[in-house]
Amino acid sequence: MTARKTITPTHRYRNNDKLIGIGNEFWDLSERNGLAGIVADYDGSVLRTVPGHEFVPDGHEFVNFSCCSYLDLDSHPKVVEGGIEALRRYGVLDHCIARSRVQIPAMLELENSLGELFGAQVVCSIAASTATFGLLPLIASGHLGDGTRPLMIFDKNAHISMSNVKPVCADETEVVTSRHHDLDFIEDACKKYAKVAYVCDGSDSLGGYAPVAELAELQDKYGLLVYYDDSHSLSAYGERGIGYVRTHSPVLDERTITVVTLNKAFGTSGAAIVLDGHSKETLRVIERFGGALNYSQLLNTASVGAGLASAEIHRTPELKTLQDKLYGNIGLFDSLVETDQSGSTFPIRLVPMSDTTVIEAGRRVIEAGFYVSPVFFPIVARGTAGLRVMMRAGQTEEQIRRLCSVLVEVGARPAPRPEEVSA
Ligand SMILES: *Cc1c(COP(=O)(O)O)cnc(C)c1O
Repeated sequence: MTARKTITPTHRYRNNDKLIGIGNEFWDLSERNGLAGIVADYDGSVLRTVPGHEFVPDGHEFVNFSCCSYLDLDSHPKVVEGGIEALRRYGVLDHCIARSRVQIPAMLELENSLGELFGAQVVCSIAASTATFGLLPLIASGHLGDGTRPLMIFDKNAHISMSNVKPVCADETEVVTSRHHDLDFIEDACKKYAKVAYVCDGSDSLGGYAPVAELAELQDKYGLLVYYDDSHSLSAYGERGIGYVRTHSPVLDERTITVVTLNKAFGTSGAAIVLDGHSKETLRVIERFGGALNYSQLLNTASVGAGLASAEIHRTPELKTLQDKLYGNIGLFDSLVETDQSGSTFPIRLVPMSDTTVIEAGRRVIEAGFYVSPVFFPIVARGTAGLRVMMRAGQTEEQIRRLCSVLVEVGARPAPRPEEVSA
């Protein structure tokens, strides 16, 4: 018998050998130090580890400083009640059939509410990842534009939910990866190609924001289409929590497509695709051919009800109160610990550490009663390791002060005191 064939992959857009080979070591090390694989009960403010852990002591209490529910809306009584109420009102959790055939009106109700809130056309999905997986191939094939297949430029730092879709898009059009926010590269491409689409985060997980004004100039000049994932800034930023992109982009028409998860500061489940100026026919194409947007499950009625309640809170002054509390907590943190993100309204801070000290530092912080997630080489570039801290509206002054003093003990840079700044 001749030798059976083995396969040599092309790895043009992804490489699991590399991903798992490098990443798994990081997870193992984190887990052995009690910084991953944690199971804990939550009482609405404090977590307590449940018995049965190999590496974590039973009943250890800690405050989560690595949770993206920036406004604590996920445990807001009105949001919890909204979920229960909708479940009672509709009398069914789900009704399993593709929405293009038969749907109960629950998700339509949420889409209308969010559409009114954002002043846009909204299509919901069970996750931002699902929305992106449905939409990007339609952009690639020209079906979300004027029919011209665009050159698709993915920003090098685009969230994995977007970069994962490169091979699928590459089967429909040409796909390239640009350096981070490389406007010259994008403009050059616009001069060469009849149509270009650029895919990036509206607000990155480490505090940067997309250059929406500069991109808008390219949109005006060349008809550039921009696909933003603005998941990190929804609710936490802007009037009625409309997020960074919709607050600042002057181009809000079919050239700008934004997807946002409802699972971060918005405090519920699912995601919203936020569109402007699309025809009914295009919306139908999204609904019918957006892959899992059609065949996969819709938001269940509890998620819809929670979403309606959160949207209601976004319409009241309470949202601004929560945003201000969040910003106050961020400001307090910045007054105690200095990071590259100091001074920004973005709720994430990276406390720089060395690759060799970051795990030990993370362990000491959780022992002191706070969870912050360590990121280090090879997950991030050498020299950029650190503890990732996420601020929330509901954290108390005492918790933040205690966390900051522990962080300084393990090597964080204390913020200069006001008199030193002015001196
Ligand atoms: C958290 C996050 C997601 C994941 O959102 P899901 O709705 O859970 O899929 C996607 N994109 C970005 C930029 C995120 O930060």
